[in-house]
Amino acid sequence: MNKRNKPEPQKTPPHKSHKKRTYAPHIEAGVISVKEMKKLIAAVEADGAKNIKLSGEIIFVWDEGQGPGTHIEKQTSYEANDFRFGGVRPVKMCSAETFCQRFQQPVLGLARKLDQMFYRRPLATKVIVGIAGCKRSCSEPATKDVGIIGVAEGYEILVGGSAGYSPKIAKSIGIFSTQKKVIEIVEKIMNYADKNCKKTERLGAVIEKVGMKAFLKEIL
Ligand code: SF4
Repeated sequence: MNKRNKPEPQKTPPHKSHKKRTYAPHIEAGVISVKEMKKLIAAVEADGAKNIKLSGEIIFVWDEGQGPGTHIEKQTSYEANDFRFGGVRPVKMCSAETFCQRFQQPVLGLARKLDQMFYRRPLATKVIVGIAGCKRSCSEPATKDVGIIGVAEGYEILVGGSAGYSPKIAKSIGIFSTQKKVIEIVEKIMNYADKNCKKTERLGAVIEKVGMKAFLKEIL
């Protein structure tokens, strides 16, 4: 895990019920100047805020003719996200454990683990993983190639969802009791996608073509 990426330790174990205070400023269209953002960070820091939960990407923007220089590389240890078509995208995760306590299973550690294992893995196609702590699905796992939802009995895995030109709702392939099993199955799904999807063809389209039964025969 990236050291700078490590959240402040939680005083209460995440699975125990406790109320966290949060503040989500309304930022019109999600666009804010760096100067305003600095002011905002200074204010919430002065009020004692510890972590920030990003709901999507954080994207810094330069004026035309300018761009990232050497400061980012020298002063931080972050790498830029990679959005080329083939490969695994950054894991999308809801607010479970960061501040939302409605989660049915711990998922934050699982999301980090999957991100560490699969992000940037080159594949024939694009694969997006979405993880939610409960069926409310704030991170929209049913619209991802691989969706994982914390449920009372364990982790439900969904496959074949996507947005884009031909949106699809992912289908459940079952509930699995341990994170270890979830990781094992996600690994198999990634390998399946690499072997069977053509470039620009999403996993859901391939499953539709071969049939869920044939897909599951290879995965489970
Ligand atoms: S999906 Fe459930 S656990 Fe995650 S943020 Fe939404 S309500 Fe909370």
